[in-house]
Amino acid sequence: MKILVINCGSSSLKFQLIDSETENVLGKGICERIGIDGRIVFTPGDGDKITNDTAIPDHNRAIELVIEALTNKDTGVIASLDEIGAVGHRIVHGGEKFTKSVVIDEEVIKAIEEVSDLAPLHNPANLIGIEACKKAMPGVPMVAVFDTAFHQTMPEEAYLYGIPYSLYEKYKIRRYGFHGTSHSYVSKRAAEMLGKDYNNLKTIVCHLGNGASVSAVKDGRCVDTSMGLTPLEGLIMGTRSGDIDPSVVEFIMKKEGLDVAEAENVLNKKSGVYGLSGDVSSDFRDLEDGYFKGDKGCIRAINTFCYRVAKYIGSYAAAMDGVDCICFTAGVGENGPLVRNIICDRLGFLGVKIDKDANEVHGKEKEVSTSDSKVKVLVVPTNEELAIARDTNELCK
Ligand code: ADP
Repeated sequence: MKILVINCGSSSLKFQLIDSETENVLGKGICERIGIDGRIVFTPGDGDKITNDTAIPDHNRAIELVIEALTNKDTGVIASLDEIGAVGHRIVHGGEKFTKSVVIDEEVIKAIEEVSDLAPLHNPANLIGIEACKKAMPGVPMVAVFDTAFHQTMPEEAYLYGIPYSLYEKYKIRRYGFHGTSHSYVSKRAAEMLGKDYNNLKTIVCHLGNGASVSAVKDGRCVDTSMGLTPLEGLIMGTRSGDIDPSVVEFIMKKEGLDVAEAENVLNKKSGVYGLSGDVSSDFRDLEDGYFKGDKGCIRAINTFCYRVAKYIGSYAAAMDGVDCICFTAGVGENGPLVRNIICDRLGFLGVKIDKDANEVHGKEKEVSTSDSKVKVLVVPTNEELAIARDTNELCK
């Protein structure tokens, strides 16, 4: 079956067409600047990128363009829409309602709407994507795959905050965690790479991209993760602060004369390695350049970022009473030998020994620990689209 995977944001829509049997990507692309002006970039299977600047006033038009690109006589990859057997949608927040992927019906749409105040920027955009696909491909089954679902196995002691329990009961304020599809995919893949039983393994997954999170996966179940009610908690990220004393918010509001939205903007857009570097960049390629040239801001940003990751790994080893395997994934985790070195050098107390030569790997599956390292360290490229396609296939075949 050919499965269309849709990741719909407020002004962009990413897509991939995946053959569920071969797991090959038949075509992929992105519609950008929806509602602003518009552009679609499409890459057929093994062909070159095709860029088309064209008006995209809304998501309905974006889906039409995706279908046009996929079925184009010269550069398309399928003869007609009928070849698409199912659509898999990435949904950011599933609240406590969704513990796994589900086939989308009216009830599911209503439930996604109901948890939208937990992800006001993301869920409404995801729903627009669902509606647009429903209109363009009536009758084609669709599946919702939630970023939060994999983390729903966390025990109460890991997901509760130390705030009045009534606030949890009334508003469901708790840790949810995100990047679940990636944490699930990578932890399973790690067990396969090591030839170990997934249900009898303690794994820590470090998803280090622009957004970054760590998770602890014990015996096939997520037992803790660093992102919280929203994706702002936990690690220091590209532009997000991660953990801070909650009082910092009021303090900067008073000192800088900001309202709540402006203070939130500082924590989401101006902080992280970008803010720490002194506004040099949120991109680790720039920060690494600066690091090796001796730029103090870049050195500060990278060291502080790595310290936080190492601290989380230590705490998750405590949470699981040990760790067998540490995985690095996403843009920085897959491509950043420097970051992996600095983090692992802090983990000697766990028996982690990194092989500096093996660690020079970029974007490929590889074991990067020494043969006598007590804890295996792996680079495992994530593939959230494939994971979404697999769930969709499972539910629709
Ligand atoms: P997201 O999906 O959250 O936007 P990604 O997983 O694509 O993020 O990761 C983006 C990050 O990966 C950027 O900070 C980028 O600098 C970093 N990155 C990509 N390639 C490299 C590389 N070769 N070396 C170091 N960092 C890299």
